[in-house]
Amino acid sequence: MNMITNHMPTAELQAIDAAHHMHPFTDGAELAAKGARIITRAKGVMLTDSEGEEILDGMAGLWCVNIGYGREEMAEVAARQMRELPFYNTFFQTSHVPAIALAQRIAELAPGDLNHVFFASGGSDANDTNLRLVRHYWAAKGKPSKTVVISRKNAYHGSTMAGASLGGMGGMHAQGGLPIPGIVHINQPHWYAEGGEMSPEEFGLARARELEAKIAELGEDNVAAFIAEPIQGAGGVIIPPETYWPEIQRICDAHEILLIADEVICGFGRTGNWFGSQTLGIRPHIMTVAKGLSSGYVPIGASIVWDEVADTVARAGDFNHGYTYSGHPVSCAVALENLRIIEEEQLIENVATGTGPYLKEKWEQLADHPLVGEAHTRGFMGTLALTPDKARRAPFEAAEGTVGLICRGHCFKGNLVMRHVGDRMIIAPPLIFQKSDVDLLIERAVKALDLTL
Ligand code: PLP
Repeated sequence: MNMITNHMPTAELQAIDAAHHMHPFTDGAELAAKGARIITRAKGVMLTDSEGEEILDGMAGLWCVNIGYGREEMAEVAARQMRELPFYNTFFQTSHVPAIALAQRIAELAPGDLNHVFFASGGSDANDTNLRLVRHYWAAKGKPSKTVVISRKNAYHGSTMAGASLGGMGGMHAQGGLPIPGIVHINQPHWYAEGGEMSPEEFGLARARELEAKIAELGEDNVAAFIAEPIQGAGGVIIPPETYWPEIQRICDAHEILLIADEVICGFGRTGNWFGSQTLGIRPHIMTVAKGLSSGYVPIGASIVWDEVADTVARAGDFNHGYTYSGHPVSCAVALENLRIIEEEQLIENVATGTGPYLKEKWEQLADHPLVGEAHTRGFMGTLALTPDKARRAPFEAAEGTVGLICRGHCFKGNLVMRHVGDRMIIAPPLIFQKSDVDLLIERAVKALDLTL
């Protein structure tokens, strides 16, 4: 077998990659024809590819590298933990210091009575945990009929059978016979695309009240929980109208429905607080976290659980659920170091009052571009809608084609990572972004847009 290294010619690496590596969310034929762009190293907010090109990462990897790339402290903590205790499980009445310390730190940071942590390997399996947990909880409370979980169309909650079912992505449901039973979807609060003649405030209330209507239709005694991202990320950074979340909170409280906030993207600083629930004024019973918990340096996810739910489950005997890597010692140690860096370097303050307002000002000026219908940010999440007709808020007919051309074509060739979803272009930069990084991002984004005029 030949030795594969960073120094091999790109075409050779691409050929081996296409021959043996099945990529997630990728058109395999397109990959084989074009070859993947191969990233060889990264530092700060910059990636380097196998041709030596420097690319500005406007997506923090996949919404996760909050502290930026190349942090020596993280590598040192991982190496130290691997030497001391590379693995032990947390099943069957055992524990270890990294899991204990991280659970305590997360409980300190999480709002309200969210004081208990069940570890997973990422966001998808943490949402699997949530589905089992809420059903087990209601059964333990003597209400075993409360099993249905209500979610939203266009939500993303992961790629496992439960995660993809909780999500509301039609393209995912079409493959593999999803959703699994017991999960239903209501409409999303996407005013720009679906609000018609309503004001954003009226529309936010109307969409929230679809939850109440769905609970009435299903019967309150059959509904376990409602799950939603505070701000929908992978669906296109859909920032809800101000009226939406207070009404959702009222409905969950009034009907004894557990509220699960999926904070996999919003958590750990992205919205300008530790959690998106704090920014949006939500009081969840469970939060799903992953990504920013370790800044993507190691895989880890978790469910952060309300006292009453955790206590009820603890009294109900064995919870027959867990992953080999629940509370992996290396992941926990690295995540703790990541949380230390976020706090010490005041990265959340950078989002809230440092670079964040500058990003907002510059990004929202993109709305003046002839192709842009709206442009908004909340913290370090940004979205813009492309349109051939601003007045009608009309999407491009072949949205995937046009927006894909801009994002995958012009942006990526112009050395900027942004993502596209339907007719939207989105960003989620590392939380270390400075004003000069914003300037470079805007310059490259405008260049990509101009090439499409
Ligand atoms: N939930 C949300 C909101 C996400 O954005 C994601 C991933 O993008 C997930 C869950 C799934 O997390 P993972 O890919 O770590 O399984």
